[in-house]
Formats: sequence, C-alpha cells, structure tokens
Amino acid sequence: MQSVITIDGPSGSGKGTISRLLARDLNYSYLDTGALYRAVAWKIKEEKVDPDDEAAMDRILKEIDINLSSNSIAVNGVDVTTEIRTGEIGELSSQVSAKPAVRERLFQLQREICLHGMVVIEGRDTGTTIFPEAGNKFFLDADVKERARRRYEELKEKSTDITLEQTIEDIEKRDARDSSRETSPLKQTDEMIYIDSTGLNITEVVAKIKESLK
Ligand code: C5P
Repeated sequence: MQSVITIDGPSGSGKGTISRLLARDLNYSYLDTGALYRAVAWKIKEEKVDPDDEAAMDRILKEIDINLSSNSIAVNGVDVTTEIRTGEIGELSSQVSAKPAVRERLFQLQREICLHGMVVIEGRDTGTTIFPEAGNKFFLDADVKERARRRYEELKEKSTDITLEQTIEDIEKRDARDSSRETSPLKQTDEMIYIDSTGLNITEVVAKIKESLK
C-alpha cells in the first residue's frame, strides 16, 4: 500500500521528529510505535512487576488498555505522555520489547492503524513485521555519537544527573539489544531506502524522504 510509509532505525536517529513533520506535511496520521512499548514499560514499573515473571506479564498484557491520540498517550485512563519519556522507561521498554508476548500483544493495534492507510509509522520493525506490504519504506540512521548527543539534549531537560558518556553507553546497549533479539529485530532490508542523517538538519531529511516517495 503506497500510502503507508514505514520509517525504522536505531534510537536517536530522529525518526520521531522526522515522521511527525512528514505526516503533517502529507496530511497523514502518525504512529510512534516506540510509545506503545514505553507504555507497557510504564505499566510494569507502576505495578512493580518483574518483566521475567511470565504470569505477571500475562496479566499486565491482558489488563493494559492503551489509548493513543496524535499528541498524547494514556494507559488505563492515566495520561502518561510525559512520564514515558525518561531514560529509565526507555531502558525498560527496550528490555520488554524483546519479549514475544509483548510484541504479539501490540501487533494488532499497529496493524489496524496501518490498514486505514495514509499513515507514517515509525519504530524498529514497522517495514519488516508490522506492515511489510508498505509501499514506502525507509531506514533512518546516524552516527552513534550524534544520536547520543541528540538523546542527551532531550534527557538533560528532565534530569540533571545524566552525562553524554552514559547516554552513548545506553544507546549502544539498546542498539545491540534491539538488533540481536530473536523476535522482530531492528533490521535494514534491501527494499528500504537508507538515509544517514548525520550532519543533516530536519528539513533536509524530510526533503530527502519526500523526493523518494513512490
Ligand atoms: O523509539 P523509542 O526509543 O521510543 O522506543 C523505545 C523502545 O521500544 C526501543 O528501545 C525498542 O527496544 C522498542 N521498540 C521496538 N519496536 C518498535 C519500536 C520500539 O522494539 N517498533
């Protein structure tokens, strides 16, 4: 389907900002799939559940009700839009996203949004697993130091005890985990158009994507 645009890539590659702008320009909706994994992580933290406790995780996945709108996200009626953006939830979401039960639970939700078309969907497996029939697939990348610097600027606003070195380490750990997990790893395939955003500004990246749209 031509009107489904998937953008996959590692942490801090700018997928969120770029996808949001692209969707706005095209008058498409925008789906940030990472927010869904972050929502699950938030619930796990809130309920003090050990992600390796399968029974407790099953319960969480049955009970969780995620409500996404264009600029907010709620979990079982609680607005978690800001709370899910911390480094701690980022790390926990990367851990729980490796669990097949979590991915299965979130699959249908993502799939249904894509079936309506006219959507920019971004994450780690949107072009490979969620909507392989998408007509426009991109892989957005950037040098790890630049990605860490961008993430650090974001996190610094919320926490004062974060360092750039720590952010580089965290990003490298998450990249390794996201790319090596068995279920739906982050992967660039031949059909994806590769864009390296190192040294490019947001407008330049959005323009590159638009030029390549079929
Ligand atoms: O993109 P963001 O940092 O918000 O994603 C949080 C975590 O969710 C990622 O580190 C990744 O492990 C996971 N994720 C995923 N598949 C997606 C989107 C995000 O596994 N499609």
